[in-house]
Amino acid sequence: MKTAALAAPERRVKPGIDLPADAPLRSASAPEAVFRFVHRRVTEDQVCILTFDRPDSSANVFDRATIEELNDHLEFIAGAPELKGVVLTSAKPSIFIAGADLHALAGASAVDLASLIELGQNVFSRLAGLPVPTVAAIHGACVGGGYEVCLACNARFASPDRATKIGLPETQLGILPAWGGSTRLPRLIGLPRALDVILGGKTLTAQQALNYRLVDELVPRERLVEFACRQISAHGSKGRRRRHAWKRWLTNNRLVAAALSLRVESQLLQKTRGHYPAVFKALEVVSRGVSRPVAGSLALEREAILELAQTEECHNLIRIFFLQEHAKKRSCRSANATAAAKPIARAAVIGAGAMGAGIAHWLSSRGLPVILRDISAEQVAKGMAAVSQLYHDGVKRHLLTRIEARAGLDRIFPSAAEVPLHNADLVIEAAVEKMELKKKIFERLGELAGPDTVLATNTSALSVSEIAANTRSPERVVGIHFFNPVHRMQLVEVVVGRQTSPEVAERALRFAQQIGKLPVVVKDSPGFLVNRILMPYLIEAGHLFEAGASTGDIDEAMLDFGMPMGPLRLIDEVGVDVAHHVAGELEARFSDRMPSPRVLAQMLKAGLLGRKTERGFYLYHTKNPEPNSGLSLFQEKDWAEGFGREELQRRLVLLMINEAARCLEEEIVAEPSDVDFAMIMGTGFAPFRGGPLRYADSQGGASVIGEMKRLADSGAGYFEPCALLQTMATEGKKFYPEKGDR
Ligand code: NAD
Repeated sequence: MKTAALAAPERRVKPGIDLPADAPLRSASAPEAVFRFVHRRVTEDQVCILTFDRPDSSANVFDRATIEELNDHLEFIAGAPELKGVVLTSAKPSIFIAGADLHALAGASAVDLASLIELGQNVFSRLAGLPVPTVAAIHGACVGGGYEVCLACNARFASPDRATKIGLPETQLGILPAWGGSTRLPRLIGLPRALDVILGGKTLTAQQALNYRLVDELVPRERLVEFACRQISAHGSKGRRRRHAWKRWLTNNRLVAAALSLRVESQLLQKTRGHYPAVFKALEVVSRGVSRPVAGSLALEREAILELAQTEECHNLIRIFFLQEHAKKRSCRSANATAAAKPIARAAVIGAGAMGAGIAHWLSSRGLPVILRDISAEQVAKGMAAVSQLYHDGVKRHLLTRIEARAGLDRIFPSAAEVPLHNADLVIEAAVEKMELKKKIFERLGELAGPDTVLATNTSALSVSEIAANTRSPERVVGIHFFNPVHRMQLVEVVVGRQTSPEVAERALRFAQQIGKLPVVVKDSPGFLVNRILMPYLIEAGHLFEAGASTGDIDEAMLDFGMPMGPLRLIDEVGVDVAHHVAGELEARFSDRMPSPRVLAQMLKAGLLGRKTERGFYLYHTKNPEPNSGLSLFQEKDWAEGFGREELQRRLVLLMINEAARCLEEEIVAEPSDVDFAMIMGTGFAPFRGGPLRYADSQGGASVIGEMKRLADSGAGYFEPCALLQTMATEGKKFYPEKGDR
């Protein structure tokens, strides 16, 4: 079998490229041929428009059938010398092409995957080699394989709409762009920028994509295709002249690539601590491939993706992607669908502090009018200033335009006085974390709100059922627990109280999806899910510190494990007062296994509240916070007899595993994947490890239990494994089936 496509020159290839033997070709000779995924139309000016429009789906994706169909069109185009050019576009309202079909990719055998990658590379190379100009007219999500097909075109124009998102996020999934993306991007925008996009797994807004030169121009959506056709007529067979060619010449040579690669590798090592093999592999492929012929670089891509696809990291990262997709669509099965379907059109937020302002900003930015209420004009003004700042930052980062920011801000109605709330579909309370205060607020909300208004609390750890008990209709009360900072954290816990009606729980869930958050449904219990699992970890970090471990050793151990931040630094960020309060709540409920460390109370007394007071476990006077050596006062022993890094990690992680298993035991959530998903999205638990339960599986039940018992026997009784873990270890069971469930 010949593989002529791979040896073909990049820009000019004669029609009739060979495909792998298993890629059947259909006849595409007739312009009016009917196709399933990609429709074809030839304009009067002899421009061939290929429109991606997958039937029965809101998204276009690349699977084998779609790529083969694209190939059929290329066959037709290659045999039609009268054609002047080709435009690729999409018929979907918010998606150009969302990349490869990950379900097909994840389920593929090594042989199938190799053949799919080769097919994609060959067809995209064939597109790149057409003798007529080719243009991508991009509106909507254009990521992964969706952008790689655009890279095979001569020019790319995109709509400036918010729906337009462009990039190569493959490394976030533990793989790399292997349909020509790792080869063509550096040739288009130069090696340094290409590394930035590919290694960062970046998905950019249209404006950011223009700044990176991922696209050539922004054109209003309604004129995109017409503009693309006109460009073809104007530029003829030569296509558009590429700018900045000299810059690419300077960076895309072997010497510069080798030097750059060394520098980037050391930065990556620092950032990832050696985890995430995909970024290192992508660095190697892009920097080696840039000075090779295209075919050689494509071969590197193929080899690399086949290797990466076998890794545990890749399986875990793809699984998280699926869990995110699931969270966007999930529902509470028991709810009456009609009652629950009523969308939230107007909202009110009570409390304009850190969380209230963040929530008001997020809701208004998603188009909802919001009343923002606090107890004084001063507090309201502070909240509005915080919202303005968030909008300002969004404009600076090109996430939205100045006009959109202004419109968002105008959707917020600040109020220092009580206002009627019967027009609000949802009220979210985000006042100070005090049960008595919240009870009073909810009592009053029962009078101010309409009969169908959903009454939600953003409490971190108080009982939703208790807050609801005082209201006239406790079935309308639900927890909607946002994480801080609201605009960054995608997870929302929907907390179902004892009396919350299934319809209200479902409306809260759909509301979270409506505003673009990823919900997990949890039962009302102290700390709900994420804080409940996180607290034993933070508490243990406090105990280890008290026992003499240094701040640096504890935090470094967990950074090495793959956490985004060490536990003591996290306490500082959350606030020592908040951590102390939540630890107290959990101690009251689970005193035997969550004894609150004294150091938190001591720090609170000394006014060391963490970042907000610039002093906590770290000192924040300089750009790089330093451990606060003054805290040695609160340490009991010298760490001479201390544990190594692995032992620190073990103690801290085992407690999370144990608590995660208990949450399943108590049916706080329904599935192990709910726990893992929430911990990754809510705390950044090392994503490549797949979450605490997945990690427990990878370590083996017997080993986890053995370690816990050893620690429990050495005097730390709170390491005693829960019944579920013990039974599973005895029966040799895992949280996830042995195969599949990626
Ligand atoms: P905050 O102290 O920054 O803000 C609380 C605001 O509530 C203040 O502006 C205060 O004036 C106002 N307030 C007090 N009584 C009020 C009343 N009767 N009516 C209206 N407003 C009133 O607190 P925060 O950090 O924004 O936390 C708010 C809630 O969100 C708490 O329940 C907290 O547990 C929860 N939460 C906090 C975080 C976090 O990281 N800060 C994360 C998730 C949830």
